[in-house]
Amino acid sequence: MRLFGFVFSLLLRLGIAYTLSEVETQISSYQAHNATYTAAPTPPSGCQLALSYPNSSTYEFEESRYWAQQQALTRPTCRFSPASPEEVSLAVLALRVTQCKFAVKSGGHAAFAGASNIDGGVTIDLINLNQITLSSDKTQASIGPGNVWYDVYNYLQPHNVTVIGGRVSAIGVGGLTLGGGMSFFSSQHGWACDNVNSYEVVLADGSIRQVSYSSPYSDLYWALRGGGNNFGIVTRFDLAAYPQGDLWAGSDAFLYTNETAAAINDAFYFLGINAPSDPYAQVIIAYAYAQSEDLFVIASDLQYAKPVANPPILQNFTSVPGAIASTLRITDLSNLTVEFNNSNPGGFRQTYWTFTVQNNAALMADMVAIYMEEIDAIKNVTGVGPSIIFQLITTDMTDHFSKNGGNALGLAGQGPLNLINVDISWSNASDDERVLAAAQNIVDRSVAVACAKGLDHPYLYQNYASYQQDVFASYGADNLAKLRSISTKYDPQRVWQKLQPGYFKLG
Ligand SMILES: Cc1cc2nc3c(=O)[nH]c(=O)nc-3n(C[C@H](O)[C@H](O)[C@H](O)COP(=O)(O)OP(=O)(O)OC[C@H]3O[C@@H](n4cnc5c(N)ncnc54)[C@H](O)[C@@H]3O)c2cc1C
Repeated sequence: MRLFGFVFSLLLRLGIAYTLSEVETQISSYQAHNATYTAAPTPPSGCQLALSYPNSSTYEFEESRYWAQQQALTRPTCRFSPASPEEVSLAVLALRVTQCKFAVKSGGHAAFAGASNIDGGVTIDLINLNQITLSSDKTQASIGPGNVWYDVYNYLQPHNVTVIGGRVSAIGVGGLTLGGGMSFFSSQHGWACDNVNSYEVVLADGSIRQVSYSSPYSDLYWALRGGGNNFGIVTRFDLAAYPQGDLWAGSDAFLYTNETAAAINDAFYFLGINAPSDPYAQVIIAYAYAQSEDLFVIASDLQYAKPVANPPILQNFTSVPGAIASTLRITDLSNLTVEFNNSNPGGFRQTYWTFTVQNNAALMADMVAIYMEEIDAIKNVTGVGPSIIFQLITTDMTDHFSKNGGNALGLAGQGPLNLINVDISWSNASDDERVLAAAQNIVDRSVAVACAKGLDHPYLYQNYASYQQDVFASYGADNLAKLRSISTKYDPQRVWQKLQPGYFKLG
């Protein structure tokens, strides 16, 4: 592993105006004259070699910034925290020369080991690429992937604009945007990926490209909108900014009863039908198990992107009787994302799974019944916190999926669909097998019921998927073939596929 540090330091001396083969030649000749290269190199003065090793404060601090315990327990041999796209480029070249495996981290919220951290390799932590700027006409925000959404919203709020990003404060800009990105404003503007004007990307050959629809890399621009970590390391996202003030939002909590569930599921179904009449409304419905009380509960998270209390489009939800608590109020975006972050604490073992079905209230009831049966079997798992979460992919969302040449998700013009996220947290690795089996059963049984009713849909949302799920196949055969061909064009050596093994690969 010291070899990576050595090569990286050497590259800093050489500068980046070299091709990979020139770098390899330089290194061979250096090695020929230096019998050993195991000592940690001294960086040239003026250059910061931001490598950190186990037990150093930087390494341990960065390791603590993962949401899932499985990721936080993963131990790379070293971590590298670049401060510029040039340093990312040098790292990519050094990793290629040394054939060293690596992972890339933005906000660290991917829910399984190896997604953005790597045992025994190098983790590139983008934490220092944390610039945020707003154009003078306030129509574009340029954001580094070292930011989490709270930082972004907090910066933009005084300017009365926002961008299309995550709904939980601590999520990273990088992973969410590269996988799709559902936001409070998605019915108005599409997903996060549909609102990226351009990307600054370090490619597998170390070159740094500005990638937009009108650039020479429009194919890559398409692929980056849903293609995850398969095409390069994005060092800046230029995001469309939109006027935005306060919103009316929060959560109504209910104890589970069949009647309440039926009313909520009906409200959800009708919102799917009616959403285009008022795209300011968004809803997340979570069925959860509260272990301390041994109760099932329902959280009806409502958002309206204007400071208007209880708008007609959401009154099917607010008229459901029996809420035991409510946080609905007029608030600002960053405050709201903190509320949602508080209900998703880090440090636990985690598993996320996904699938998609047609919008149908009776099917929701079937899926909740399956969820409750499967959770019964793991109720005694220490610290268990299981949810099944329903969100609409509305037709006004998917109308935006064709913007600027379209995204790679394969959903343009479809809907309304019900996107499901099965999310379980728990405390101890000794329970992994039971919990993962329950999660998989919920998904498999629910999909089987949806298929039997002719209400299934192939789409798997990358940002909610388990590593066992074949995300890219779900984009459709044509899109998968196109993604593979763009990958071959920009990464003929398959650096992102082979040297960066974590997360969802193109196969
Ligand atoms: C509590 C919680 C709330 C969530 N809320 C939402 C939500 O509101 N909307 C939504 O759509 N999703 C949401 N998600 C899902 C979320 O989008 C994914 O977990 C996403 O992967 C997190 O991004 P990250 O940058 O934090 O993760 P990371 O683990 O840092 O990254 C995820 C993957 O993206 C890659 N990656 C990250 N940045 C870059 C980059 N700059 N260049 C190349 N590759 C990169 C990483 O290598 C990794 O493979 C939520 C997840 C959680 C756990």
